[in-house]
Amino acid sequence: MLPSIVPDLAPLTRLAEPLVTRFAPSPTGYLHLGHVVNAIYTWGIARAAGAQVLLRIEDHDRHRSRPAYEGAILDDLAWLGFDAGTPVLRQSDDPGAYRDALERLRSAHHVFACDCSRKTLADEGYAERYSGYCRTRQLDERAGTGLRVGMAPGTEAFDDLRLGHQEQEPAAQCGDLLLRDRDGHWTYQFAVTVDDWRQRVNLVIRGEDLLSSTGRQIRLGRMLGRERPACYVHHPLLVSPGGGKLSKANRDTGIRDLRAAGLSPEDVIGRAAAAAGLVDRERPLAAHEVEALFRYADLTRSALPD
Ligand code: GLU
Repeated sequence: MLPSIVPDLAPLTRLAEPLVTRFAPSPTGYLHLGHVVNAIYTWGIARAAGAQVLLRIEDHDRHRSRPAYEGAILDDLAWLGFDAGTPVLRQSDDPGAYRDALERLRSAHHVFACDCSRKTLADEGYAERYSGYCRTRQLDERAGTGLRVGMAPGTEAFDDLRLGHQEQEPAAQCGDLLLRDRDGHWTYQFAVTVDDWRQRVNLVIRGEDLLSSTGRQIRLGRMLGRERPACYVHHPLLVSPGGGKLSKANRDTGIRDLRAAGLSPEDVIGRAAAAAGLVDRERPLAAHEVEALFRYADLTRSALPD
């Protein structure tokens, strides 16, 4: 059976602690319709389930992040009407959090310097899964070396609220995880795990392209001391007219371009909801209405006989 387009929110009602989720764009380009789909899921589910939304700018990649993109993202989100109501969190504002987490990890796990370049690893057939080459080399940690943590074999299981039961094996998928790259930047996997934990995020809502990251983030969280992983919803991605992943360069899906072409916020949200299959035809939809897309699913379920 194909997974439903909307998640089952019932397990969230059993959580004792306040629900916190996040919208976490990377300021490496402008917002496009794919981000709007993620915003619809994030704010829609948050309101239907009574969760707080944090707005987190993921600028761990200092080479690719630009303040101008951050400004444009925040401006487009405000124009669309998606509002976190709390101050914007920015990874670069708190470098100490990642250093502290690294020290914590070091105290109980094998953290080691690695000077393998991405290209060397790819050439040797290890583009996805690290070869383990530097694990026992005892290199000094100096500028130009990355840092990895040893991943023990074992399965991480979790129940995605839309896709159901999942099992992943981080050691087999990616090997020893890169925490800091050779340029000294914290990696996405490390930064997002540290942030979700320290910001008490217990509901992660993101696209299916990140599904394979979840087992390794749950594992890394456990290694850092997080006992209970977050709940996860991975939603379908929009595909470009050519069938590939939506790119920030697609002019017909960039929010800046759609604004310039005269579309209203409701037109844009309606277009994203229709493209994602959340509504059956394109009609204007306001940011404050998206909750209904997820409440409706709840009502349908509760109307079903046991
Ligand atoms: N910053 C990531 C992105 O823009 C999202 C990360 C996440 O949701 O875990 O794709």
